[in-house]
Amino acid sequence: MQKIFSNKYTNQKDIVEKNFFNLVSDFSKHNQKEIETTSIAIVQNAIDYKIGSQFGKLIHEFSLSSNEGIVLMCLAEALLRIPDAKTINDLIEDKIPIGDWKKYIKNDKDLFVNISSIAFLLTGKIVEEKENEHKNILGKIVKNLSEPLLRNAIKQAVNILAKQFVFEKDIEKAIKFSDEKKHEKYTFSFDMLGEAAVTYEDSERYYKQYENAILTTGQSKNPEKKSISIKLSSLHPRYERNKLDLLKKELYPKVFKLVELGRQNKVDICFDAEEADRLNLSLFIFKEIIESNLIDETYSGFGFAVQAYQKRAFFVLEWLNQYLESKNKKINIRLVKGAYWDTEIKIAQEQGFNDYPVFTKKFVTDISYLACAHKLLENNNVYSQFATHNAHSIAYIKTLFKHKDFEFQKLHGMGDEIYSHLEKEDGFKCRVYAPVGGYQDLLPYLVRRLLENGANTSFIHQLKSKNSDIKKLIQSPLDKIEKLNFDKIKKPADIYEDRKNSSGLDLSEEDIINQLKFENNFSGNAFSIIDGQDIKTSNENNIISPFDLTILGKKYYAEEQTVDIAIKKLKENSNTWKKVPIEKKIEIFLNFANLIEENINHIIQICAKESGKSIKNSIAEIREAIDFCRYYSKEANIIFREKILKGPTGEMNKYKIIGKGLSLVISPWNFPIAIFVGQTVAALITGNVVLTKPAEQSSFAAYYLIKLLLKAGLPKEAIALVLGDGALIANKVIQDKKLKNVIFTGSLDTAKIIQSNLQKKENIPTFIAETGGLNCMIVDSSALPEHVVKDVVSSGFDSAGQRCSACRILCVEENIYEKIKDILIGAMKTQNMGDPEKLSTDIGPVIDADAQANINNHIKKFSKFFQNENISSNGYFVPPTLIEIEKLSDLKNEIFGPVVHITKYKASELEKLIDEINDLGFGLTLGIHSRIDKTVNLIVSKVEVGNIYINRNMIGAVVGVQPFGGYEKSGTGPKAGGPEYLKRLCYEQSISNNTAAMGGNASLLSEVED
Ligand SMILES: Cc1cc2nc3c(=O)[nH]c(=O)nc-3n(C[C@H](O)[C@H](O)[C@H](O)COP(=O)(O)OP(=O)(O)OC[C@H]3O[C@@H](n4cnc5c(N)ncnc54)[C@H](O)[C@@H]3O)c2cc1C
Repeated sequence: MQKIFSNKYTNQKDIVEKNFFNLVSDFSKHNQKEIETTSIAIVQNAIDYKIGSQFGKLIHEFSLSSNEGIVLMCLAEALLRIPDAKTINDLIEDKIPIGDWKKYIKNDKDLFVNISSIAFLLTGKIVEEKENEHKNILGKIVKNLSEPLLRNAIKQAVNILAKQFVFEKDIEKAIKFSDEKKHEKYTFSFDMLGEAAVTYEDSERYYKQYENAILTTGQSKNPEKKSISIKLSSLHPRYERNKLDLLKKELYPKVFKLVELGRQNKVDICFDAEEADRLNLSLFIFKEIIESNLIDETYSGFGFAVQAYQKRAFFVLEWLNQYLESKNKKINIRLVKGAYWDTEIKIAQEQGFNDYPVFTKKFVTDISYLACAHKLLENNNVYSQFATHNAHSIAYIKTLFKHKDFEFQKLHGMGDEIYSHLEKEDGFKCRVYAPVGGYQDLLPYLVRRLLENGANTSFIHQLKSKNSDIKKLIQSPLDKIEKLNFDKIKKPADIYEDRKNSSGLDLSEEDIINQLKFENNFSGNAFSIIDGQDIKTSNENNIISPFDLTILGKKYYAEEQTVDIAIKKLKENSNTWKKVPIEKKIEIFLNFANLIEENINHIIQICAKESGKSIKNSIAEIREAIDFCRYYSKEANIIFREKILKGPTGEMNKYKIIGKGLSLVISPWNFPIAIFVGQTVAALITGNVVLTKPAEQSSFAAYYLIKLLLKAGLPKEAIALVLGDGALIANKVIQDKKLKNVIFTGSLDTAKIIQSNLQKKENIPTFIAETGGLNCMIVDSSALPEHVVKDVVSSGFDSAGQRCSACRILCVEENIYEKIKDILIGAMKTQNMGDPEKLSTDIGPVIDADAQANINNHIKKFSKFFQNENISSNGYFVPPTLIEIEKLSDLKNEIFGPVVHITKYKASELEKLIDEINDLGFGLTLGIHSRIDKTVNLIVSKVEVGNIYINRNMIGAVVGVQPFGGYEKSGTGPKAGGPEYLKRLCYEQSISNNTAAMGGNASLLSEVED
C-alpha cells in the first residue's frame, strides 16, 4: 500500500521507460495489424456517422480556443442559475458581441454548422436556411439582444445545450428511458448529478438521492443492466485527507449503507474518480469495504474508477492484483483517463509541489491507459470497464481482451459516432454513463464536458475537426515516444523564469504527513541579538501559547541601554555592510531561503505553538518568506547594476543605487515568518544595517529566524534583533539622527504615531507603512454561490481572520442574498476550531486575550448574527461569526478576527456601492465574484484599492505575482513583493565625470574616421 502513496510525483519518463514501454510496445508489435484495422473501421464509421442533434454538431464546431467557444462556455456555465432579468441581460450583452459569429456562416450546405444552428442557439428557434440571408438573420438577432423574448430564448437554447449531456431529470424518468427498446444494446450507469458538497445539508440531499436511485433501480425491470455512480465528495462537505478521522465517523457509515443497499438490491455501485488528492482517501474507504463483509461471492458489483493520467494509476492496479487475491474478493474497475487535468496542473504549481500527480503529455496518458489495461487483464478478481471514446485505445483494448469478459463505457451525449460501429458486433457490451438531475446541478459537469469536447488534444475534438486525418487519428501513442524528453510544462519549482518557486508540502500525501513530526515538549527562550550575541536582560516574560495558555519558554525584552548598544553597533558597521558586493549579499539570502526550507517542520511548530497558526497557514507563510528572499535577490541583482547613461561626448555618466544606512523594521505577529523575513531581507539586501523589532507575541519566531540568517552567512554586524516593547524601542531608534528608513506593518494607530514622531525629525527618513483594511467582496447574481461561499470562508475565517487582506464585508446582490447567506452559514458549520498542531484544525485561536476581548465586544454590538459553536478550551478562541449589517458605514474600523459582515445591494446601485467602499477610506483588498466582464471592469476602474481578486478568494498574495499593499488608511506603498519595494529603501546616485578635463577628448579623436 505504501508504494501507491509514494508514487504521486515519480518522474514521468521513468514510469514510462521502466513500466509501460516494453509492455505496450511488445503487444502492439505482435498485434499491429488487428489494432490498426479496428481503429480504421471505428474512425471511418465515425467520420461517416451523421450526428443527429444540432448541438452535437455545434459543440464540435466551436473550438475552445476561439472567442465563440469561450462565449458558449461562459453562457452555459452561468446563464441558467441567474435569477434576475437585469443580470441575464447584462451577461448576454457582455458575451454575445465578443464572438465573430459571422465567420460560422457558411454557404456550403454540407457543413453541419450553419446559420440555423447558430440562430437556434441564440433564439431557441430553427430558422429556415436561405442562401444569402444568413448574415441578415444573425444581424437581426444580435441587434435585438436586450428583448426579454431573446433572453428567454437564449436561456432555452442553453438549456438544450445542457440537455445534450443530461440524461433525465430524475431517476424514475432515467430508468424508464433506459428501458426503451432503442437502448437495448446498452447498459447504464446513472450518475446523480452533484459536485462536492459545501454544507452538511448538501451532502444529506445527495445521500438521499443516491439512496433513492439505488432503491428505484433495484426495483426496476432489469436491475442487472443498470448501476449507480457515486461521487464521494458529494457525500461529505469536507472530503479531504486532513479530515480523515471525521470522515471515518461521518462519511464511512453513509458509504457503507449505500453499498449495503446496492448489495440488497443487486445494483452495481461505482465510485467516480475525483481530484488526485482524494485518491488515497477513496482507497482507504475501498479497503474498509473490502475488509467488511459487504462484498462476498453473492455480490461483486462494487467498484471504483481509476484515472490513467495519474502517475499512480498503474501501481494502484498492481497493488490491487495481489490485494484482491489475498482477500479473495471480486470487484469492478472502471478505467478512465481523467477529467481534471488542468486543475491538477494549476494546484501543483500554486502549491509548489515537487512535481505533478498527473502526466504532462497526452500521449503518455494514452500509453498509461494501455499499460493499466494490461494490469487489469492479469487480475482475475476484477471485471474491467473501459471508459473511453478514443478509437486507438478502444481497438487496443478490444484486441487485448479478446478472450476475457469486459465492457466499454461511454458518456451520454458523446461518443455515439464511435460506438455505432462496434454496436453491430456480437457480444458488444457498452455502458452509458448517464447523468441524472436538474440543470442547477449540471454546471460543473457541463463545463468538464465542454472542455473535453473543445480541447485541441481531445480525441473527440480532433475527430471532428475539418481536416481530420485518419492516419493521425489512429496513430499509436508509442509513435510519439521520442517526445518524452521535451516537456513544455515546467515543473512547479520552475514556473518563474528568474527564480525558484518555493516548495510546498502536499498534505494529502501519506509520506509527507508521516514526516511532519513535531517535538513533544516544545520549549525555548528568546533573546535580543546584538553583534551575534544573545542578550539576556532582567525584563523576563513568558512565551505563552494562545491555544492552551501553556508556558513555552521565556523571552527577554530589551532595556533602554540594549537599544542604545544595538544602534551604536549598527552605525559603526553601516559602511562595511554597504560595501559587501551585491553577489555576496544575494548568496547569503538565497542560503537563508534554503535554510528556512530545510527547517520547515520546526518553523511550522513555532508558528503553531507561539502564534496559534494552523499547519496549512504556517506552510503558506513559510513559503512566502522563502519567496521574499528569492524575489528580492532577483530584484536586487537587477537594480544594483550600475548603469552607464548616454550623454555628450567627453563625459562619463553613471547612475547607481546604494543603501542608506540605519533602518528600523517593525513587524507584526500575524505573519511572524513571512512579513518579518520580507521586511528584514528587503532592508538588508539593499545595503542597510537593520534594527529589527518583531511583535512581542512572536518574539520566539523572530529569534529563531535571525539565528538562521546568521547561519546563512549574514555578518553579525549588519543586524540587531531587539525584542520588547514597541513604543520604547521605536522611539529610541526614531530619535537617532542617522535613521534612514522605517518599515512598518501593523495597526493604523501605531503607524500614525510613528509618522508624527518622524515628522519631528530634522531629516526625512523614508517611511513604509502597511496597515489594515475594511476589505469588501462584491458578489453579483451571475456568481456561482458555492464558489463564492468557499472563497468567503477562506478569505474571512482562515487564520482566524487575522490577515490584513481578509474579507470583512460581503456585499451580495439582493436576488441571491438569502441563498448565499444560507450556504455560508452551512459552510461555517463545517469549520472546526482546535489545536493548531493538528492537521484537522481549520481555525486556531486569536493571538491573545486583548484581541479576543476586542472581537467579542464588537460582536456584542450587533443583534443579527450567526456564530459557530465555541469550543471548550481555555485558549483565546473566537468562533467564526457572520454579522448582518444594513450598510457599509455601520463599520468604521477593521475587526481583526474571524468575523465577516454581510450586506445586500441592488444591481442597479452598484456604482453607489463602489462609492461607499471608497468612502470607507481604506484601500487594501477587494474581491469580485461575477461572470460579467462589464461589471468587473466597472468595479476595477472605480474602486480605490491596491489588490483586486476576481472569482477567487482574496487572501494569500504571492510574492512577485500579486505584489501586495494598499492606499489611504491601508498603507503608503510601495507594494511588498513588488518591483518598486527595494528602490524605496535606497539612495540614487548620479556621477558625471568630465573625462575631457584631463588631456582633452582622446577617445573622440581616435574614434572618428579620416
Ligand atoms: C463512462 C465514463 C465514466 C467516466 N468517469 C470518470 C471519472 O470517474 N473520473 C474522471 O476523472 N473522469 C471520468 N470520465 C471522463 C474521462 O476521464 C474522459 O472522458 C476521458 O479522459 C476522455 O478520454 P478519451 O480516451 O475518450 O479521450 P482522449 O482525448 O484520448 O484523452 C483525453 C485524456 O488526455 C488527458 N490529457 C490531455 N492533455 C494532456 C497532457 N498534456 N498530459 C497528460 N494528459 C493529458 C486528458 O486530461 C484526458 O484525460 C469518464 C468517462 C466515461 C466515458
